[in-house]
Amino acid sequence: MSKTIIISNRLPLQIKLEENEINVSPSVGGLATGMKSVHEEGESLWIGWSGLAEEDLNEETKPKVLAEIQKNHCATVPLTENDVDHFYYGFSNKTLWPLFHYFLEYTSFENENWESYKRVNQKFADVVLENAEDGDTIWVHDYQLLLLPQYIKQKKPDTSIGFFLHIPFPSYEVFRTFPWREEVLEGMLGADLIGFHTYDYERHFLSCARRLLHLDTNFNEISYNDRIIKIDSFPMGIDFDKFYNAAREHSKNSETEKSDIQKKLDDHLYASNEAQMILSIDRLDYTKGIPNRIKSFEYFLEKYPEYQQKVRLIMLAVPSRSNVPQYQLLKRETDELVGRINGKFSTVSWTPIWYFYRSLPFDNLIDLYTSCDVAMITPVRDGMNLVAKEYVATRVNQDGVLVLSEMAGAAKEMNEALLINPNNFEDVAKTLKMALEMPKDEQKARISVMQERLKRYTVEKWAQEFFTALNSTKDVINTLV
Ligand code: UDP
Repeated sequence: MSKTIIISNRLPLQIKLEENEINVSPSVGGLATGMKSVHEEGESLWIGWSGLAEEDLNEETKPKVLAEIQKNHCATVPLTENDVDHFYYGFSNKTLWPLFHYFLEYTSFENENWESYKRVNQKFADVVLENAEDGDTIWVHDYQLLLLPQYIKQKKPDTSIGFFLHIPFPSYEVFRTFPWREEVLEGMLGADLIGFHTYDYERHFLSCARRLLHLDTNFNEISYNDRIIKIDSFPMGIDFDKFYNAAREHSKNSETEKSDIQKKLDDHLYASNEAQMILSIDRLDYTKGIPNRIKSFEYFLEKYPEYQQKVRLIMLAVPSRSNVPQYQLLKRETDELVGRINGKFSTVSWTPIWYFYRSLPFDNLIDLYTSCDVAMITPVRDGMNLVAKEYVATRVNQDGVLVLSEMAGAAKEMNEALLINPNNFEDVAKTLKMALEMPKDEQKARISVMQERLKRYTVEKWAQEFFTALNSTKDVINTLV
């Protein structure tokens, strides 16, 4: 019987090692949720890195960790600290991430990191090839593994390989600056189906394949090495019920069941019956437009002083990649901006920005989502942005307004949000005012349409649709034969 192999940089497991004690728990992220049905159905194996470098393990702990991984129908790729430095922090996060998000000035092109990227992709391929058989369906995820489809296809041509990119694919004019552009395109073209979040990313990829590899494309198909490769868009959804139901339960919480954060949010509301709260949640990443958001909030408070003391921006920034210099700079800039603006506008009873630099457990995220009147999600570039979708899903009374950057993939499916260009402070300030003043019936009309869409196209549906499309490429392969 053929099986399914899922491959991502990290396994969907959180593995903690403390003094030879191993603690394994499943991850709760979007990808793990979406793939759950695929991973649990029939025979399936998930391959990825455990999060522990080889140097972290010893003779005693290594077999125990491997056994735990196996128990969860997973297999691990052994990475050394050097691999993690050069492949992950180096090439993935200092080259591909900034380049694909249009941050050319942050992109480093270092041959040593590229060599490590190839080596680690080959390490992943070795583990896949140990486990794959003809007829298997293989789904590779994301920018850390762009070369993997080709490495597998060369050795196992009779497998169906899907590749999904979770970040933007940049336009040709940006991608052409990349020294290893042909190799990376050829790596991806080892797949039979290549998926992106939006039609724009798909178009960019097709145009790069035409212009850089001189390949023939027919609508969304590419002919390459006697194979037909299908390119399509599959916008990733969320686990709608999880967020909606959690928010519904949350509204029933008694005073004693409330979290400290919720009590603080409530205090803010009681302090003034006109008080409104604006929410932003993101990883502290330069793509998320955090400084722009703070500055445009400052501009808003200056332009519409009647809102001083009446609104508060609740900003959750989740620590991320904090050993990469640009992220350290961004942290400093964010701290300074928040300090400056709070210093400038605060009164005895009001601070305009509440800033949390940490990650919060799910229940506290729900506290934030359900308490805030407006979500202000303003990335300068974002593959999708799930926070925007999660905010909408938690609005059980169908009130609330989503202000969303046009530069987020999610904007393509969320036309009922108030869409803004995050670089246009004038527009952002005006739109924020519009959001804070929007009549309830208009809020409801907008939220309800978006909720319907999110309910229909959940993350599970996303995974199933990709899988169905991948399986149908098998039929094409069979007909060609
Ligand atoms: N999130 C989380 N803990 C937090 C804050 C956010 O787990 O403290 C989650 C959030 O619910 C969302 C994800 O992190 O599912 C962020 O996904 P998104 O697509 O918005 O951005 P990414 O971080 O993948 O670029």
